[in-house]
Order: sequence, then C-alpha cells, then structure tokens
Amino acid sequence: MNILLKNATIVTQNPNRDIFEGDILIKDNRIESLGRQLENPGVEELDLSGLTVIPGLIQTHVHLCQTLFRNLADDLELLDWLSLHIWPMEMAHTEASLRVSAQLGLYEMLRSGVTSILDMGNGRHMDVVFEEMVRSGIRGFSGKVMMDYGDQPYKESTDDALKSTEELIQRWHGAANGRIQYALAPRFVPSCSDALWEGIKALSESHKLLIHSHASENQKEVALVKKQTGYDNVEFFVEKGLASSRLCLAHCIWVSEREMEYLREYQINVLHCPSANLKLGSGFAPIPRMLHKGINVSLGSDGAPCNNNLDIFIDMRLAALIHKPRFGVTSITAQDVFDMVTINGARTLGMADKIGSIEVGKLADLTILDLNKVQVVPADNIYSQIVYSAQTQNVVHVIVDGNWVVKDGLPLAYNKDEIVDRAWNECTALLKRIS
Ligand SMILES: [Zn+2]
Repeated sequence: MNILLKNATIVTQNPNRDIFEGDILIKDNRIESLGRQLENPGVEELDLSGLTVIPGLIQTHVHLCQTLFRNLADDLELLDWLSLHIWPMEMAHTEASLRVSAQLGLYEMLRSGVTSILDMGNGRHMDVVFEEMVRSGIRGFSGKVMMDYGDQPYKESTDDALKSTEELIQRWHGAANGRIQYALAPRFVPSCSDALWEGIKALSESHKLLIHSHASENQKEVALVKKQTGYDNVEFFVEKGLASSRLCLAHCIWVSEREMEYLREYQINVLHCPSANLKLGSGFAPIPRMLHKGINVSLGSDGAPCNNNLDIFIDMRLAALIHKPRFGVTSITAQDVFDMVTINGARTLGMADKIGSIEVGKLADLTILDLNKVQVVPADNIYSQIVYSAQTQNVVHVIVDGNWVVKDGLPLAYNKDEIVDRAWNECTALLKRIS
C-alpha cells in the first residue's frame, strides 16, 4: 500500500540509533522516505501524533504447533516434558487442530507487535502452518520438525524426513512475495542421525536455508549428546560442518568456553528464550557474556506450553532482568534487549539489510505503540519504556510488508472469538485421541 504516516516518534534502530519526530512514506512494501514534514499529494495520510513507531518486533524461536498445548505440561524438565507430553501431542495433531494452533499463536504474536517469526514446525500436516502464515500477514520462516533417531516412537525414516522436507521447500520457500521462507528444523542432536544431518547440510547449502535447532538447553540433554556423539553440543555442529551464520540454535545455556568461542567464530545465532528456560528449570544462558563477545543473540518465546504465553513484551522484560543478579546490573541494558528483538533478530534471519530497523529502502515492517498510557509514563529513556514497562496493550497498529495486519489493537485476518471456540474444541478432541 502507499501511505504517509505523519507526526510520530520514530525509533529507527539505524546504526546511530536515531530517534526523531517525523513522518514515514511507505510505497508498496518499502520505506520510500523518512523525514520531517514530508508531503506526497495523492497518498493517504495517517496522523500518528502522540504515538511511537518502532521496527516490527522479531521472534526467532517459537512453535506454532504447540500453542494448542498451552497450560497442559507444567512442572517438568525438558526430556520428560518432551516425551510425556509434547511429542505425543504433536503426533496427535490433525490438520484442523494444527490449523487452530497456528491461528492462536499468530493472533497472539501479531497482537503483541511481532512482524517476523522463526517457527519450528510439526512433523506432519505442515502445509496448514504455511497457509496460516500466508493468511495472517506475518513474515514467517518455518519448517517441518525432523526426528529420525533415538529411543522414542515418534521418529520417521531419514528418507521420509528429507523427502517431505524437500517437497515443502518446493511448495513454500519464497511464497507470498518472499514473505514466507523455509527453515530446516532438525529438533535437536539426540533425535537426529548422522545421515539426516548430512542431508540437512546439503539442503541448507543448495537452497541457502537457515538451520533451526535446539542446543544445550538442559544438562541431561548435554550428557545425552556427549554419550551419543562424543562431542559437546555446539562442538558437534562444528565437527559436522554445520556451523555458520545460517545456523540458529535455541537456548545455548550449558556451553563451555570453547563452545562460546565457536559461537563467535562461526557467527552462529543464539536464540534466547528466558521464560522457557525458567519454566523448565533449565538454567540461565550466559547472555551478557555472549553479547560482550559479539555473538548475535535474538529473542523468542519458545512454545506456549513452556512459557505459557507468546508475548514478546514478557520475554523482553525477563531478558533484561534475569541476568542482572549473576552478571551485574549494568551487564545488560534495555537497548541491548531492544536490539535482540529488532536488528539482531533480522541478522538471525539473514535479513539485516531488509528488516530490523526503520531506514529508507527497507521493507515496511512497523509496530506502532501508544507509550502515553498509565503504566509506561513518565520516562526519559524510550528503550526503558518499551522493554521494562510496556505491554501488549500498548501496541496499536502493525504493518508487515507494507500491509496493515493489526489495526486499533485487532489482528485483521482472524475472528478472535471463533479461534478461541475452535481451540477449546480441538484441544479436547486431541486429548481424547492420546488418552
Ligand atoms: Zn523450542
């Protein structure tokens, strides 16, 4: 669309971190110009006086397929949480239950100002997730979760995992004018064979795809990886030739000094999920040290059953708070955390030249906040307002790829009441299927 947004406070996240009062002209899906008192006769204008425009928020680790399992798997550590609840429920998805799970998650994230996600998908029916990402208007990276190894009944053959992945890449990579992209999704080292990793490496290289996985989330998982492969987690990715700036690893809590060096040297992206790390009792990732080393860290809510929200404002606040007792009050700032959900997230997705900041020529992914509400005033630092004080209720409008996806606090693609009704019904039916 073509629109001139007028009189806003614009938090650019450009290299100078400029903030100014002014206007944004959007033409088609790009930011055409930025400045004060812009004029463009014939283009629709919207007065945003009193509102704040920030780059669209980026969540780099979520599981849309798990939103339907919210509040169903409390008080367990990772490996039991997976084998007792998450894997059986993911396997029990029908197209209908997976669809409403994706809708529920997309609604919640768009409502909280998220414009881009890196999603780890379900093992089956993945067309449904891609269809809903297209329909919702979000910028979405996803891929079918891959598991072909280990002492669990949910694995498939290596050939099936790779073949179905290739078919999905053909159907969805680059769909919706490039808004949808495929990201390879091996669950984690204990569930993947060497042959699968070889296939993943080849697909990543031939199609230039992200590899999205979990690593070093839990100490028992780390011990299992060591027993199974002889390597530490990050070391495994290096040894198998999988370590690069296309590798995105969720958690990275229990990493050695050498693995920290690998993360930096190979420009591996760390996906920090503070709520999930606390809820599963997994531990505290050394995020301030990673940032100090220059490792790229972005932020995610992980799945609804280990959070139990997908609200990026909650995870921003936690990321800013939980490291202070261990590393000191100045070890991580509101600006650091805001970088994680904007420009660092864009870097994780390989899109730092296209999204993550408000600059001329970039794609028009924008979140518009009202920071003149009771719980966020007064302030002398806008990053402090956004990270420590703001909540989803401060999100007014959201634009993705030059299109409105949320207006006046309402995601446009979905009817909230219908989704809530279907979620209750599909959850009840799914639990019956696994009982
Ligand atoms: Zn996860």
